[in-house]
Amino acid sequence: MTKDEIIALLEGKDDAGLFERAAAQRLETFGEEIYLRGIVEFSSYCRCQCNYCGLRGPNNQIHRYRLSVAEILDAVDELAALGLPTVVLQGGEDPHFDVATMGRIVQTVKKRHKIAVTLSLGERGLEAFSHWRDCGADRYLLKMETMNPALYPNFRPGCDFDQRLASVRSLQALGYEAGSGIITGLPGMTLETLADDILAVTELGLDMISAGPFVPHQQTPFGGESGGDPQVALRTMAILRLLNPNANIPATSALETVKKEGRKQGIEAGANVLMFSVTPETVRKNYAIYPGKNQETNTAAQTVDNARNLIQGMGLKPSISLGGSKVGQQVK
Ligand code: SAM
Ligand code: SF4
Repeated sequence: MTKDEIIALLEGKDDAGLFERAAAQRLETFGEEIYLRGIVEFSSYCRCQCNYCGLRGPNNQIHRYRLSVAEILDAVDELAALGLPTVVLQGGEDPHFDVATMGRIVQTVKKRHKIAVTLSLGERGLEAFSHWRDCGADRYLLKMETMNPALYPNFRPGCDFDQRLASVRSLQALGYEAGSGIITGLPGMTLETLADDILAVTELGLDMISAGPFVPHQQTPFGGESGGDPQVALRTMAILRLLNPNANIPATSALETVKKEGRKQGIEAGANVLMFSVTPETVRKNYAIYPGKNQETNTAAQTVDNARNLIQGMGLKPSISLGGSKVGQQVK
């Protein structure tokens, strides 16, 4: 697909055809299976200052929490007992969970359960990435947010574009199933920069690609900006599916926040992964990345039931497989 063709699709030139082709590609690669991932958001402390995120360090208006190691392991036990094949351990960039502590958590989970472990803990350095991989971590999610080096500093002050890209590449080199991705509709992005982002993120050859709309958070420097158009986010996912037929692509929670039935539409646009929070109810709503995030008061069991019902209601199958990467395999 050329950049001009991508821009035309992002403008909405052929929504019906685009979504139909993306869903057909998902079906061809993954059959009727949709992978399930439960996320345990174990720390809302963060040392970074991302201008879009409510968890940014300088935001002193939110309630911060950290789960204890025992609480994290309990949440994973519960998720495994519900038959979920993957846990995502996610948090702000919080050095309180040092390299050794995170390593022990990963080792314990892998010893107790036959499930895949995804980490999403920000840029913690090569030594940490390597140790956690040795401890058994299977996947790592580190979104670039944009592939545009000129826009990057506006979004993530104090962070370095090249450094983050190098981190994504080192995760790949360490043998993780590596995930990255973009936020759509951040201030200053245009359909042209988005088309460039789509092409550049595709170049990375990722196992997992996430694209979700920007949702403004009042207590951030971007609080007064417009949110990302959910329809553009859906088109982005569909184009990514066509360009990356074998990659895992999630229907993001940000999409559900800004659009009724957003996740369902995400699957219709080619996503093959559903991720949902199974963070303990006592703290879940305090993982306040953006307004509307984690407002459900369901138990983990209800959340998993709802996800399975959503998938079955679409005539698809909630997968019980680990949902490993098909990247590198030949397209069927
Ligand atoms: N701290 C780690 C990191 O940034 O890689 C992982 C946790 S971070 C909360 C997970 C993702 O949330 C980010 O990669 C970003 O894409 C997304 N996010 C944060 N704020 C957002 C917002 N206001 N709208 C949409 N997505 C947002
Ligand atoms: Fe921290 Fe991640 Fe939020 Fe940035 S996006 S402020 S690194 S939690």
